[in-house]
Amino acid sequence: MSGTGIAVLGSANMDLVVTTERAPGRGETVTGQTFRTIPGGKGANQAVAAARAGGSVRFLGAVGDDDFGRQIRDVFTGDGIDTAGLMTAEAPTGTAHIVVDGDGDNSIVVVPGANGTVTALTDAHRAAIDSAGMLLLQLELPLSVVSEAAAYARSVGVRTVLTPAPAIPLPDELLADIDLLVPNEHEAAILVAGAPSSTVGDGTGTTDDEESGNAESLARGLTKRSRAVSVTLGARGAIYLATDAAPVRVPAFNVDAVDTTAAGDTFVGVFSVGLAEGLAPETALRRASAAAALSVQRFGASSSMPTRDEIETFLAKVE
Ligand code: ADP
Repeated sequence: MSGTGIAVLGSANMDLVVTTERAPGRGETVTGQTFRTIPGGKGANQAVAAARAGGSVRFLGAVGDDDFGRQIRDVFTGDGIDTAGLMTAEAPTGTAHIVVDGDGDNSIVVVPGANGTVTALTDAHRAAIDSAGMLLLQLELPLSVVSEAAAYARSVGVRTVLTPAPAIPLPDELLADIDLLVPNEHEAAILVAGAPSSTVGDGTGTTDDEESGNAESLARGLTKRSRAVSVTLGARGAIYLATDAAPVRVPAFNVDAVDTTAAGDTFVGVFSVGLAEGLAPETALRRASAAAALSVQRFGASSSMPTRDEIETFLAKVE
């Protein structure tokens, strides 16, 4: 792998997705309509998005010695992702139990399983990071290994990208080791204020301009703690801000969304490939936005992510 390669240290889960008209209340049983198993987990999603966009990707993490683990390995292999750093743990493969109701709202129980066994960097992890141009991190592995990996990458001059999800307030020492932070609006608000997401506005009663201004002030707050920030705003696009630079606004493409699962992971994976290839942030962001727009038009996480050809064809049509 060259210096433009991408190492992803993160979670790999099997998503167990059921659809039902109404999610069950406590103690209640309801009849559902469909059941699907789809490889997911934020780390795996970002790795697949980056590989399909043309990145040379290594995945570092753990699955169990079970069918879900083997299916996840098959997805990685099919997308040309190097799995030498994917350990087989004694714990079962991580699972996300997702109930999607008739309004399209989700409730999710995540069982980390094998992901929880990745608590410290191994020599294999360090070797993969050494030869990468960029390290992608999220918060679905123990914070100890995320912090250690960010500090190690910084010490060997490898750029770091952190998706701070699931959102928790983070120590300044970790953020100081991050070159690019990519939260969505709720995650950004929690990082800035340490506030629970329920206290963050849902846009009701505010205009798009006010909302963008809010996102920009969140991004500005975060650039005091890490070098560059891109706050994603769902169908309203994203804002990118590097320390001491003018903000870049990235519109979303106007498409019919059917499932926004992993839109953010697609965005991060494709943005990172663009940056690793040396594209200007504006150009890399436009590609990321196109890839995410393609992904929301299909169902599922890894199953929805576009190839480089699909991204280029889409951009050629809208330009
Ligand atoms: P997350 O999935 O992490 O919550 P967002 O919902 O902010 O992240 O989405 C990430 C990116 O995906 C957005 O910046 C945008 O480019 C794209 N996106 C999300 N939802 C839509 C949509 N409905 N239509 C078009 N693009 C979308």
